[in-house]
Amino acid sequence: EITVEKENHKKENLQLLKHSVEYIEKNGIENPKLEAEYIFSHVLKTNRLTLTLDFTRKISEEEKKLIKEMIIKRARDKKPLQYILGEEEFFGYKFKVDERVLIPRPETELLVEQCIVLMSDVKTPFILDIGVGSGAISVTLGKKIPTSKVLGVDISDGALEVANQNKELNNVKNVKFIKSDVFENVSYKEFDMIVSNPPYIPEKEYKILMHEVKKYEPKLALTAEDEGLYFYKLITKKASDYLKNGGVLAFEVGYNQAQKVKNMMEDNEFENIVIVKDYHQIERIVIG
Ligand code: GLN
Repeated sequence: EITVEKENHKKENLQLLKHSVEYIEKNGIENPKLEAEYIFSHVLKTNRLTLTLDFTRKISEEEKKLIKEMIIKRARDKKPLQYILGEEEFFGYKFKVDERVLIPRPETELLVEQCIVLMSDVKTPFILDIGVGSGAISVTLGKKIPTSKVLGVDISDGALEVANQNKELNNVKNVKFIKSDVFENVSYKEFDMIVSNPPYIPEKEYKILMHEVKKYEPKLALTAEDEGLYFYKLITKKASDYLKNGGVLAFEVGYNQAQKVKNMMEDNEFENIVIVKDYHQIERIVIG
């Protein structure tokens, strides 16, 4: 009897999943199965790998309603999945995200990876992260380098709120966030490293970005004047005032910006400049 019941639940739930995948697919979303599975696992408080194993129980009406709402937000409204679920994974850590911050991108994990390597022979690294957004970079560095002290700045109150939530969520004590327009409220001047993934999209490229980015992600975090180079210019010019001798400056940059940023660093007497490519062979990280 019990086995029969379980079998029936499983059939019914698989059917619901199948319909959801079809609905998402019909609306032109790229990985419909994956996205549906993420939504189901989130609501059913399980993970994608064991999702269908857990299908042997009845999905409650409440859960069904929630799943349906999320599927519609994704398929019809094209809201990014991460904002619907309210979270994204970065460097293996969980980060809360909402429309006040950019969704952390896998490319940024490369930047963090480089930062960790660069600080490996510094005893107690003092690190400044400019434009923290969700706090992905600061929190991860704080976690991965327990001896470090990380100061993260952002001009957006909303971003600082999210970043502080993520600091709590990941239980990291050596990270502090303050409100500052770039260096404005930064008084410490002996950092071992300055890291930044600033807004870097030129205005005219912003116009042709994907609809779901433009509609949901904060423009303040995406675009910059001067063909997207505004923050690189500002930061490279002032960085040496805030760095120790031999300190490191590390940026994530946009498509086609690496050489220009490298030149800026050279003009400001940075040495040993390295450019790192991302998974798509795009020059993505510049370090000096
Ligand atoms: N530093 C944050 C990140 O890398 C925010 C970046 C931004 O908003 N431009 O995700």
